[in-house]
Amino acid sequence: MDDTSDKKPSVNFIEEIINTDRANGKHDGRVHTRFPPEPNGYLHIGHAKSICLNFGLAEQYGGKCNLRFDDTNPAKEETEYVDSIMEDVRWLGFDWEDRLFYASDYFQQLYDWAVQLIEQGDAYVDSCSLEEIREMRGTVTKPGTPSPHRERSVAENLDLFERMKNGEFKDGAHVLRAKIDLASPNMTMRDPVMYRILNAPHHRTGDTWCIYPMYDFAHGQSDSIEGITHSICTLEFENHRPLYDWFIQKLGIFAPQQIEFARLNLTYTVTSKRKLLELVQEGHVHGWDDPRMPTICGFRRRGYTPSSIRKFSKETGVTKFNGVTDLARLENSLREELNKTAERRMAVLNPLKVVITNYPEDADEDLLEAVNNPENPDDGVRQVPFAKEIYIEQDDFMEDPPKKFFRLGPGREVRLRYAYFITCHDFVKDDDGNIVELHCTYDPATRGGDAPDGRKVKGTLHWVSAEHAVEAEVRVYDHLFTEEDPNDVPEGGDWKDNLNPESLTVLTDAKLEPSLGDAEMGKNYQFERLGYFCLDSKDSTAEAPVFNRTVSLKDSWARKQKQQQNKKQGKKKG
Ligand code: ATP
Ligand code: MG
Repeated sequence: MDDTSDKKPSVNFIEEIINTDRANGKHDGRVHTRFPPEPNGYLHIGHAKSICLNFGLAEQYGGKCNLRFDDTNPAKEETEYVDSIMEDVRWLGFDWEDRLFYASDYFQQLYDWAVQLIEQGDAYVDSCSLEEIREMRGTVTKPGTPSPHRERSVAENLDLFERMKNGEFKDGAHVLRAKIDLASPNMTMRDPVMYRILNAPHHRTGDTWCIYPMYDFAHGQSDSIEGITHSICTLEFENHRPLYDWFIQKLGIFAPQQIEFARLNLTYTVTSKRKLLELVQEGHVHGWDDPRMPTICGFRRRGYTPSSIRKFSKETGVTKFNGVTDLARLENSLREELNKTAERRMAVLNPLKVVITNYPEDADEDLLEAVNNPENPDDGVRQVPFAKEIYIEQDDFMEDPPKKFFRLGPGREVRLRYAYFITCHDFVKDDDGNIVELHCTYDPATRGGDAPDGRKVKGTLHWVSAEHAVEAEVRVYDHLFTEEDPNDVPEGGDWKDNLNPESLTVLTDAKLEPSLGDAEMGKNYQFERLGYFCLDSKDSTAEAPVFNRTVSLKDSWARKQKQQQNKKQGKKKG
């Protein structure tokens, strides 16, 4: 995929491994990866990183990447999630072609392999409860205790396991365990559970099975079945790798290589499906695709582009160490792109009416030319109507402005973007003392925004003609959490205490320039001086448009970096 990056390409540690494998002719130089989501929630930005990495590596090496649903747990999985995951992967720009798989497709094979391990004396049926098994596992410093059933005969194990499959037992009556090493320093290797009884229907296999493989008994073999060469996962699975390798070796099947990398963590963001589900279920947000959610569908609705997310994923790289990435980097990736692609428009979010007192009552239509995108001359120009009554932003006027305020105040002159210079000579207050209307004069000689006499003004304001304005609702978003690390809570506190009560501001009285009446769904616009906006895909209608602010114009990430650089340089000098 052609995501132009300013950074010079460097080889990350996963590419190094692949390059070495290819140089050694391992798997005939083949690269086959997979993205293996569990369909128990919507995908979030962390998954996006994994998707970009897995599909990206396949693309880069002329290989393949599978989409596989790890649907071993019947209780939590739903078709709604399966559909949303496919939509999200496609939207990000990736194609699994005909390689859509489900771990549940392998249930029979996994069962047969479990039988093989029993026959080899490598697995046994344990009739202790999960609670008892946990207690007998020991601790890091204390080896585990063998279950009284550990030495059951192969025949007895085969019989019990078959009867487990046939539905003769209640949930929890028995489990199948691997017979490995109860003294292993790696707790994962202490005779882990392979199968459990769960009398629950599965979203794909229905009532066929009442025993289900544990994730650890399914994942590595699923990779093996699909011929995955490089099985990329997050660091928490490092401890599980010896177990996956043990199963593969005992079964004598194709051996994928697992490679772990640090998961993506973002400031002001939670990336745990469980927590995101909680936000949805408890109504802290309006659904999985609420534009404040770090879900892929949330970002999509917010107006993020797939290319900005891919670029972000690439630039943040892969490492072996857990860290936290600044959310501003993601915002900046988007901002850089939209700056190049988004057409400019004028919109007033908090309108204050301005009457141009010397503007003729019976003026002909006064159309002014505005540039659509200074970054891209091909986008051309459009006409914006001017009139006797216009709106500007409330905070572009101050009754008693300080010296550094270059916008409008009594007696001050400013430029209206693409239009005229105006000077304020009066204002009207309501009974509560709020300023509700300004009276200004304009200078017809400044049409287009320049004074022929060379006179300068410091402020340039955006504006919208009152009679031509399109009315709209605009939703302005802020971080969903007030803390950089939302999980950082004092004793007895809850991570949800860190929710930002001002994460959503709804402006119901916005006035947009008339061309925005034809705004296209799925397209981003820069509202001059305000940020990038797009129509809301769910709530916007032709009669009542609703816009989301995708991202502000302010480049807080770059500013922060500059500050840090200055600090460093300051230190060097001092
Ligand atoms: P969660 O912790 O949100 O429940 P999960 O790891 O259980 O996520 P899966 O559906 O199992 O979710 O994840 C699918 C793939 O996405 C896995 O390979 C996993 O390693 C990867 N993944 C999940 N979260 C992140 C993340 N924050 N950064 C990078 N990769 C991730
Ligand atoms: Mg998982």
